[in-house]
Amino acid sequence: MKSLGIVNQKGGVGKTTTAINLSAYLAAGGRRVLLVDMDAQGNASSGLGLRGIERGLYQALTEPERAREFVVEGVQPGLDVLPATPDLAGAGVELAEQSGVLGEVLAALPGYDLVVIDAPPSLGPLTINVLCAADALIIPLQAEYYALEGLAGLMDTVDRVREALNPQLKILGVALTMFDGRTNLAQEVEQSVRGHFGELVFWSVIPRNVRLSEAPSFAKPIGAFAPLSAGAAAYKRLAEEVMQRVEKI
Ligand code: ADP
Ligand code: MG
Repeated sequence: MKSLGIVNQKGGVGKTTTAINLSAYLAAGGRRVLLVDMDAQGNASSGLGLRGIERGLYQALTEPERAREFVVEGVQPGLDVLPATPDLAGAGVELAEQSGVLGEVLAALPGYDLVVIDAPPSLGPLTINVLCAADALIIPLQAEYYALEGLAGLMDTVDRVREALNPQLKILGVALTMFDGRTNLAQEVEQSVRGHFGELVFWSVIPRNVRLSEAPSFAKPIGAFAPLSAGAAAYKRLAEEVMQRVEKI
C-alpha cells in the first residue's frame, strides 16, 4: 500500500479536483483505492455524492482502531472513501501535538493498493498529519502568475517533517492545473515551473475545463461525467504517470 498526499496550502489550486479524479482513474485502472477527505469543507466527499454524512474521518482519528466502520465502500467501482464531516474543523486543535494519528488510521485500513489524501488549504496539524502518513506527495500548482508563491513554505515544512518525523517522504510530482493554453502567461508559467522543478513536473498538464468544475455537482468523477472532455483525457494521463512513478517508490 502506498499513500499519496495531495498538498498545497493555497486554496483553489485544484487539490480536490485532482484527488477525486486521480482516485477514480486509479480505481478504474484496477487498483483498490481509498480516498481520504482531510478537508472539513468535505468537497472531495460531496463531489462523489457523499453529502450529509454524520461519521467519517473525524471519528476515525478519534478511534483509529475502529477506522473501518467509518469508510464508505464502493463509491465508485474499486474506490472507497473516508469522508470528511464538519466536525473535522475542530480536529486541528486536537491534533496539534499528534502528528501520527492519520498514520494510525491508515494502518487500521489494510487491503488498498493506493490511498489518496486530499489535504486542506493550510499547513496546520491536519496537513502535518498528511505529511507524516504519506509515502509521497503530489503538489497541484495553478498555472497562474503567482503559482510558485508560498511553495517555499510548503517545502520548508516538508523538510522539517522529513528530519523529525517521516524521513521517507518523497515528492512524487508537481501537477500543473487550470492551464489555459491560449494565453502566453500560462505558457510562461509552465516554463518557469518546469525550469524550477525539472523532471518532477508531470508531463500531463490539466487544462482549464468547465466540465471538471461541473462534475462535482453531478456527484461524478470526470471519467463518468464527461469521458470525452479534455479534462478527462488529462486526468487519465496523469493517473498513468502517477502509477509509473508510484511503482518506483
Ligand atoms: P482546492 O482543493 O485546491 O481548493 P479545487 O479542486 O476545489 O481546489 O478547485 C477550485 C475550484 O476550481 C473548484 O470550483 C473546481 O471545480 C475548479 N477547478 C479545479 N480544477 C479545474 C480545471 N482544471 N478547470 C476548471 N475548473 C477547475
Ligand atoms: Mg480542496
